[in-house]
Amino acid sequence: MGRICIRGGRVLDPSAERDELADVLVEGGRIVAVGPPGADTGGAEGVDASGCWVAPGFVDLHVHLREPGQEYKEDIASGGRCGVAGGFTALVCMANTQPVNDDPSVTEYILDRARQESPARVYPVAAATRGLAGEVMTEMSALVEAGVVAFSDDGRTIMDSGVMRRVLEYSGLVRVPIITHAEDRTLVREGVVNEGPVSTRLGLPGNPAVAEVVHVARDITLAELTGAHLHVAHVSTAGAVELIRAARERGVHVTAEVTPHHLALTDEATLGYDTNTKMAPPLRSQRDVDACRAGLADGTIDAIATDHAPHAVHEKDVEFTAAPPGVIGLETAVPVTLDLVRAGELAPLEWVRRLSTGPARIIGRPGGSLAVGAPADLTVIDPERRWVYDPAKGFSKSRNSPWIGREMIGRAMVTLVGGTLVYDAHRGVLAP
Ligand SMILES: [Zn+2]
Repeated sequence: MGRICIRGGRVLDPSAERDELADVLVEGGRIVAVGPPGADTGGAEGVDASGCWVAPGFVDLHVHLREPGQEYKEDIASGGRCGVAGGFTALVCMANTQPVNDDPSVTEYILDRARQESPARVYPVAAATRGLAGEVMTEMSALVEAGVVAFSDDGRTIMDSGVMRRVLEYSGLVRVPIITHAEDRTLVREGVVNEGPVSTRLGLPGNPAVAEVVHVARDITLAELTGAHLHVAHVSTAGAVELIRAARERGVHVTAEVTPHHLALTDEATLGYDTNTKMAPPLRSQRDVDACRAGLADGTIDAIATDHAPHAVHEKDVEFTAAPPGVIGLETAVPVTLDLVRAGELAPLEWVRRLSTGPARIIGRPGGSLAVGAPADLTVIDPERRWVYDPAKGFSKSRNSPWIGREMIGRAMVTLVGGTLVYDAHRGVLAP
C-alpha cells in the first residue's frame, strides 16, 4: 500500500459539498490530502484522472452474492470483482443464501470469505426471521455483534403485521434498519409483469402497483408506531414514492432505494418476453418511472441500489412464467444512471451522493466521503466513455442482463479500496 496520487480529476465529494478540480493523495489506506492540481506529491504513484470524475467509492445497498450455496450463479469473489469494476467499493449482501444468513455462523463465514477473496468491502444483511419464513425473529443482537448492518427477508415479504411490528421494535433496540421487500403477496398472486395494458397484451398474469403501495403504507405505519428505521428496497411505483415523501415530511425514519432498471425501463421492455426483463418488483409504467426519477432527484429516495441478482443461463432460458426474477447490475449501474445527469435531472454531485454518501449513511458505515483521514475508497469515472456491454467480458458468473449488446456511455476507470488499487479498466481486477 504505497502513496497514490489521483491527478487532475473533477473531485465530487457530497460529504463536503465539494465539486472542483483537485488532486487526491492517498497513503496508508487513507486520504491524506485533497488540494489544487499539480502540487508536488513527493514521488507518489500517479493515476491520471483528467477529464474524469473522482468520487468516493459507491456503496450498493442491495446485492445478492449467492454464497454460500449457489456459487454457480455468483460468489463473494466474483461479485466483489463486478463491484469494483462498476465503481462500487462496498456491497451490502442479502440474506437469501443457502443456508440463509439467519445465524452468526453464516455471517462470520461471509465476512471471512470476503476478507480473503473480495476486492470490495462486504457488509452482510441478516434475515429478519428464521429461514425467511416470516414467523420467528432471528437473534438480532448476536447477529449485529457478528457484523450485520441491517435485517431483511428480501426476496420474501413479511406478511404477518404482528411479526413486522416486533421486528421493527427489536431493530430499534439494536439500532440497525429493517429493509422491506414491499410486495403484498395476496395482491401479487401469480403476477409476473406489471398489471396493465402490457400484461394484457402479453397474456401474462399481472402484478399490480397497489401490491407495493399497500405494503409500503403498512410498513410506514409500523415504522411510525415503533420509531424504528425502515428502509424500502427497490421502490418501483408512484404511489410508494408519494407515501415515502409524505412520511419523511412528518418525521418518520424511512429511507429508500431505487434500482437502475426501475429508473430506465418501463414494462414495455417486456413485450418481447425476454426473461432478462423479469424482476420483482416488475418494471412499471412510464408514470411510475417518472415518479421514481423525480423522487430520486428531490431526495425522497436516498440511494441507487442495483439489486444485482445473478441467475444461470439455464434458469433464465425458460418460459417467462417459470424464470426466476432478477438481473445483474453492478457493472452497468454507472452508465445506466448517468442518463439522469445527461437529462439534467441530477447534478453530478447529487448523482454521486445517491451512489455513495446516501447509502453509506443508511447502514452507518464509513464511506461516501473523501475527507482527509477517511478510508481511501474511491472511484474514477469517465462520464463520456462509450462502450458496448457484453456480460461475457465482465466479471459476473451470470449473464442475465437487459443491457446485453447496448451501447453504454460512462464507465468506472479506476477503483481503490482502502488505498489499494483494485481495478483499472485497462488491466482488469488487480487485487486480491
Ligand atoms: Zn427484493
